[in-house]
Parts: sequence; C-alpha cells; structure tokens
Amino acid sequence: MKKTHRKRRSFWIDVTFSIVIIALTVSAISLISLSTKGKDTLLPENKHAVDQTNVVVDTTDSQYTDIKIITETSNDLYTPFSIQYPQSLHSPFNKAIASYINDAKQGYLTKHNGSKLKRKMNISLEILSHRSGNYSFVLVDSRTTGKSNGQTRIRSFHLNPETGESFTISDVLGHNSKHLKILSTLVREAIYNDPLIADNLFPEEVHIQTEPTWANFENFAITDESLIFYFDENELAAGKVGPPVVAIPLNDINNLLSEKFKLVIEDTATPPNQDDSNRDATENEGTKDEHDSGSKKVALTFDDGPHPKVTMQILETLKKYDAKATFFMLGNMVEKYPEIAKKVQEAGHELGNHTWNHLELTKLSGEKVRNEIYKTSDIIENVTGQKVTEFRPPYGAVNGTVRSETNLPIILWNVDTLDWKDRDPNRLLANVKNATKDGSTILMHDIHQSTADGLDAVLAYLQSEGYTFVKVSDLK
Ligand code: ZN
Repeated sequence: MKKTHRKRRSFWIDVTFSIVIIALTVSAISLISLSTKGKDTLLPENKHAVDQTNVVVDTTDSQYTDIKIITETSNDLYTPFSIQYPQSLHSPFNKAIASYINDAKQGYLTKHNGSKLKRKMNISLEILSHRSGNYSFVLVDSRTTGKSNGQTRIRSFHLNPETGESFTISDVLGHNSKHLKILSTLVREAIYNDPLIADNLFPEEVHIQTEPTWANFENFAITDESLIFYFDENELAAGKVGPPVVAIPLNDINNLLSEKFKLVIEDTATPPNQDDSNRDATENEGTKDEHDSGSKKVALTFDDGPHPKVTMQILETLKKYDAKATFFMLGNMVEKYPEIAKKVQEAGHELGNHTWNHLELTKLSGEKVRNEIYKTSDIIENVTGQKVTEFRPPYGAVNGTVRSETNLPIILWNVDTLDWKDRDPNRLLANVKNATKDGSTILMHDIHQSTADGLDAVLAYLQSEGYTFVKVSDLK
C-alpha cells in the first residue's frame, strides 16, 4: 500500500523534473530565435563599465491572454545573458517582477564587472496555472562562469489575475499550521524517496529546510495535478543533482487545501437535508467519525534504544494504555542492554532494526550497509528469540544501495515529534496534537527522559480522540 504510494510520487517527481528540463531547453532555444531588435529597459542605474548597448528586448504572447512574456538578451562578450519574465495587467505584480529581475541583473553585471572570465546568465520562465484561475510563475536563474559548474536558483511569483493580488503557500493551505506540518512531512518523505537525489542528500539540511515554516515552502507552484516545491541547488543535496523539485499530487492533500484550491469532489452520497434537525446532524457526524471505535489507528515508534531507565518507564506507560508499539533498536545498545531488549519483546511489542552504529547509510559502501543491518538483526534475534520484521534507516536516509542490501520493509514516519530536539514533555504533546491523524506513524526516541515523562499525556490525549495503538506492521 505504502509502496505504491511512494512509486506514484516518484513518478510525479520524474515527470516534473523532465518537464522542467524540457522547459529550460525550449526556452533557451526560443530566446535565441525570438530575439529581434528592441530597446534597452530595466537597466536604469547601471553605471558600470559593462557595455550593455546591445541588449535586445522583445515582447511575445504567452498561452494566457492576460500574460505577456518579455525576453531580454545581451551578446556582450564577457557578460552575455538571456532573461525571460512575465508581465500582467496589474502594476504591483509587474513592479515586483521588475525589481527581482533588476536585482538579479545588477548582481550579475556588477559582481563580475571587469573580470575577463567568460560567464553567462540565463533566466527562464515557466507559467503554471490552476483551475481556480491562479497563476504560478517559476523563474529559473542559471549562471555559469569560466571555472565553476554554475549555480541555479529558482524563485516563484503568484498572481490572481482577477484581483491582481499575489497568493502565498499559506493561502493555499488555508493559513493552517497543522496543514503545514503534514505537508512538511510529505515533502520530506518525497525528497528521501526521490531516486534522482536520494544518493546525494545532506540529511541535516533536508531536515532544516523542510521544517514546517511558511518560509521554507515559499517557492512553489500549483497546477491542477500537483503542488510543486523548489529548493535551491546545493543546499539540501549535492550540486550535481541540480535544484531539487518535489511534486505532491493534489489528490493526496486535498483535505489540506483551502476551499479555493480544493479539487471538486463529486460526492452527492450525503446531500444536506433541510428537514434534519441540528441534533440529528450532530449525531450523524458523531456516528460516522467515532462510533466505529478502533477504526482510528496510530503506530507509536521508539528509536535508538533500548535504554535501561527510559525504555523501562515507556514500557510501564504503554502497559497502562494497553498500547502496542514498535521499537527500532540499535545493535550496539542491544549488546549493552540485552535484558531490556528482552523485556520489550516479552511485553508484546514489535522489534525493529535501526542499524548497529546509527550511521548515515547513504554514505557507506554496500558491504558496510549490509554489515550494519545484518549484525543488528542477528543480535536482536539472538537476545529476544523474536524475528526482526521492520527496518528504519537512521535519519530516514535511504538510497538504492540501502534498499538492495535488505529485504526488510523500510519504515519511515509521518509525525516527527522532534523529541530529540525539544526535550520537553509539553512540546511532545503539542507536536503530536498538531500532526497526528488516522494511520500516522509517530517518531519518538526511547533514550530521552523527557519522552518517557511526556508519553502518558500523549497516550491519554490520543485515546480520548478515539485512537488505538498498534505496531507498525499492523498499520498496513
Ligand atoms: Zn535514530
């Protein structure tokens, strides 16, 4: 189930990636062929010695009647450029674009002023539309100099052509921080599951740059099919893979979108009935969501143990709520505390493999990866007599090598409690409250005292919301 889901997402990423590459190529070609004579614009204050008299400006129609495309090209010997940007019927939008383009151009021309190294700047434009009538404009700025490999930066602008107003990712998600949290997890998962970039990720940077802040997701586009996010080159993955682009299918996140951007769902199974009293309506809702008790499930997962004090306290709390959980253990910890691992197994929980040394597996050879995984399964099975059935790579870092070295299912998570960072029982509860929904896999660590201390409140809350607690393998 989860597998197909991921495949579909990678498919979308592949598609988007190819589209971006094709668009870049096409726009580069069209820039060359479209350029005809025109006059200099948007360079009012360039007092530098660069010769820009041969800048050619051209205006063409886009596929949208209210949007024109401006192209500017310069064949200057040392600072040639070709730039594309949109123009609408609304001047605030046009001003914002002009200011961005001017800054980019000034930066390029002045920074390299006087240098004899051959360089090039290309800004291409992609226009994406959503059926709500809103446009996303994606500007891809690629620069090369004689010696380096170049740098690509992607910036997005957004326009509601009727009102002339811009819109932000916060508008798309209904200004709802819970929605942002869920989205951030989906984006993070998509990055790790992208075969094109998985081998070259900087996990800590991935974490920082996909944290649920609005600013992290400001470079985006929305189409009828997906919500697409753009990250800067060489920030969360090695430069050689280019700027990471992630597309989340709208189908998967329809419930996170504000009314304006929601897919129209043709579901007339429960039409509102005017004869129903309010009380009836409330009762019906209650029946639908909560009556079927046990239908809402979460998988609690505890990583990096076993730990002599923390794990034991967690076992007590789980018992109190009749909760079953999954413990992703480190081989070296099982070696130190075999009797604790045994207690976890005796209490009926699931034992998962979290490698021996908690290394970032994507940086290791196949042989080392295999060793990290096999040694750990061996010791868990020897100590507890229970077979290991799940694997969670440290930092969620996976690539082709890691996948090929184990047959165990790879289990990530979709609720990150950040317990390792906050070390605060109240924050633990707040993070769970914000992000948990039916079917969630919650990530915690049974090596922090604060997690053990906060768990009782977390379980009390989730139980009051109608959740039951299951092993990861029972979630599917
Ligand atoms: Zn871990």
